[in-house]
Amino acid sequence: MSNTERQNNSKEIKPKNFIYEIIDEDLKTNKWNGRVHTRFPPEPNGYLHIGHAKSICLNYGIAEHYGGKFNLRFDDTNPEKEEQEYVDSIIEDVKWLGANFGEKVLYASDYFEQMYNYAVELIKKGKAYVCDLSSEEVTATRGTLTQPGKESPFRNRSVEENLDLFERMRKGEFPNGSKTLRAKIDMASPNLNLRDPIMYRIVHEEHHRQGNAWCIYPTYDWAHGLEDSIEGITHSICTLEFENHRPLYDWFLDELGVYHPQQIEFARLNLSFTVMSKRRLLQLVKDGYVDGWDDPRMPTISGYRRRGYTPGAIKNFTEMIGVAKRDALTNISLLEYAIRDDLNKRAQRAMAVLRPLKIVLTNYEGEEELDAVNNPEDPKAGTRKVKFTKELYIEQTDFMENPPKGYHRLIPGGEVRLRYAYIIKCEEVIKNEKDEVVELRCTYDPETKSGSGRSSKKVKGTIHWVSTKYAVTSEVRLYDRLFTVENPGTKEDWLKTINPNSLEIIENAKLEPLLKNAKPLDKFQFERMGYFCVDTKYAIKEKLVFNRTVTLKDSWVFKK
Ligand code: ATP
Ligand code: MG
Repeated sequence: MSNTERQNNSKEIKPKNFIYEIIDEDLKTNKWNGRVHTRFPPEPNGYLHIGHAKSICLNYGIAEHYGGKFNLRFDDTNPEKEEQEYVDSIIEDVKWLGANFGEKVLYASDYFEQMYNYAVELIKKGKAYVCDLSSEEVTATRGTLTQPGKESPFRNRSVEENLDLFERMRKGEFPNGSKTLRAKIDMASPNLNLRDPIMYRIVHEEHHRQGNAWCIYPTYDWAHGLEDSIEGITHSICTLEFENHRPLYDWFLDELGVYHPQQIEFARLNLSFTVMSKRRLLQLVKDGYVDGWDDPRMPTISGYRRRGYTPGAIKNFTEMIGVAKRDALTNISLLEYAIRDDLNKRAQRAMAVLRPLKIVLTNYEGEEELDAVNNPEDPKAGTRKVKFTKELYIEQTDFMENPPKGYHRLIPGGEVRLRYAYIIKCEEVIKNEKDEVVELRCTYDPETKSGSGRSSKKVKGTIHWVSTKYAVTSEVRLYDRLFTVENPGTKEDWLKTINPNSLEIIENAKLEPLLKNAKPLDKFQFERMGYFCVDTKYAIKEKLVFNRTVTLKDSWVFKK
């Protein structure tokens, strides 16, 4: 089965994958003395996105499955780009996804002293040296895939000189960029990562946890394998781009003779109509294309949360798409499917008219309460009462003066059923001076009350409504995809493919009174209109604001 076929077959949930097979085998051979210990190692330089969610669910899922351990460890080795705000948001998101990382959050920066000592060990073994080349010169002498690199003129400094210079680097005697510590491996290696990679850089910058304790910082390549080793991680699961860094991590750990986890690579998640790199997401935020990291259009976990996605749905999605060894583009409709599937089971139903058109039932007087089903998927959810009155709102799109063939909603002289209520007939269309329809005069048929079984009259369409007298007014925000192309940035400038219509704000939607007391993040299905969730940012005090989480399956007409 091809990747696409597998992804399209959304019913097929696969918690097991090739990584589980590797671990099963390791347990058989007792490679790790029966231990399974995974981790999620984010760099706190942005908010987490759905790709990170995949990694979290995968790593935590494995630890949970085997009764092992799972660490949340910040890879906080780069003070220029990292902030406490990101640390806090990441912890919140990991918890929200339900990944239990034990008592303590871990930080790579807590290992700086140990990493420093490891570096000193390598210097003493003659396996690392202080180099005075600038970063441009290091790049320029690195060679290419077809040509070997050039050895640094500082490569053969004595151990004593290296120890002295490295110590003075740490003490802050040298300016930024003036020296680095490099591993002494092989400038002719076919793997460019092994051509004397940089281990430490001088960066006089305050660190969000270490303050000014350090002015030399380890590079990712030096630090990452050590972090996993120090924590006793068994299976160090990462994305494919690190595959050809693995020989370097192996080299470091073997030269040091320390505990050596097994690295396993998998394909990162790419979603259609979405950008995922933190650099781009940061740009969307900084340049105001969106309303913060948690904008409901963002593929961030905080954005999805605000939009009404659930942790369960995200987890199901990550299982549905599986884990592969080859990069692919996952269709965003699979994520939407997972959200619908989850909300369908749990969301309270309600009636809400987004773009109201007033109708008056000329032969109806008084008011009554009708029974409405709270959730047809959940028999325990029961029913509620909805107020029915002489004047009602219906959706503007549920009436057409000149309907196309197959339109089963209201037309002049035509009939339609009002959900949970009666069949009505449109008798008169009232327009304003601009020739726009502003009101409909209708009659209702008292014999056709839903559930009464008194009339055998049948109509093809059923529409939703709310009482004008009891409706509550709300702002409703509808979202479309943030990008107009499937794979932004591959053919054209990604910023030029931002969808200018990705947010539509409806100011005066009319909702069933039940929704008046809805709290931030409460989730509902507005019948026929989609799943909605109360916004956390703009719904303040008396003002109601709903975000549309996702549309319904696109069935306009109810099956009776
Ligand atoms: P970006 O490249 O978007 O900045 P990153 O990979 O540099 O992201 P990290 O904070 O280093 O961000 O990522 C933490 C972990 O999440 C890593 O182990 C990485 O493998 C994993 N990860 C990041 N992006 C994805 C993705 N799209 N799919 C799956 N896993 C991912
Ligand atoms: Mg990274």
